[in-house]
Amino acid sequence: MYITSIANQKGGVGKTTTTTNLSYNLSRRKKKVLVIDCDPQGNASQTLSKVSPFELEKNIGMLFSDGATFSSCAVPCKYEGIHLIPNNLNAGSITLSVDYNDPMRFIGFRTALERDIDFMKTFDYVLIDCPPQIDSLFLNNALVVSDFYIIPVEAGSAYALSGVDALLRVVNKIVAVNPKLKLLGALLTLLDKRTKAGKIIANSVKAYFQPENVFKTQIHRNTVIERSNIAGRCICDFDESALGCRNYRDLATEFMDRIESFNG
Ligand code: ADP
Ligand code: MG
Repeated sequence: MYITSIANQKGGVGKTTTTTNLSYNLSRRKKKVLVIDCDPQGNASQTLSKVSPFELEKNIGMLFSDGATFSSCAVPCKYEGIHLIPNNLNAGSITLSVDYNDPMRFIGFRTALERDIDFMKTFDYVLIDCPPQIDSLFLNNALVVSDFYIIPVEAGSAYALSGVDALLRVVNKIVAVNPKLKLLGALLTLLDKRTKAGKIIANSVKAYFQPENVFKTQIHRNTVIERSNIAGRCICDFDESALGCRNYRDLATEFMDRIESFNG
């Protein structure tokens, strides 16, 4: 079982779209996936949950109560092979009630995971959709339990790399308590290859991270993805012929290969 956080302080860079569509394509390869929605906006939950995340009794907020376990918060998704720990604005506000001195601000997930390791081991992959904040209890908790993290970078934005330094500073602090945490790769998203700007930004991302730390798979800007998100569906379930579907299928292959190569 490998835990991967999908993180970037910047909003709108494709964190949630990557989490949901990667989970979908891994599940199509008969992998069991747990998605943990760490963003109180609950967008991943909206795509994956069978019912509105607000109607679910189980949610991520419960993880911070006494004796909580992951299995007690997880629900099966609309897609077979994927379980979800849902989030919504109500559940997300639990973070406000966790005292500033409470160690659960960092080890809430780890505590719940250790209590529940048998359940967690039923999954091949755990994907954590992180919130677009750097000083977030959810981000800290996610990175403390993760083996890997992926940084989606918006290839269509001149400010693509702004905020990445801040995220890497948080990562460096977390590595002190979780030395296994590694960058699985930066992922170029929302790429428009027809524009020169797209190419320039792609090159600067490779220079920043080193080319081997950037996924070869690139996620192109594809309006069908926007429509699939609006419909609350994953792209390959919505339109198998879409470029976005091919991109996320390729990403699932490269994701598994990269994890494999890290583990020799
Ligand atoms: P984040 O989770 O980082 O905030 P999202 O995954 O929610 O980012 O994506 C931001 C917006 O961009 C959403 O409206 C989403 O539907 C859209 N989007 C994401 N990826 C693509 C893509 N490859 N092509 C077109 N639209 C996309
Ligand atoms: Mg999001």
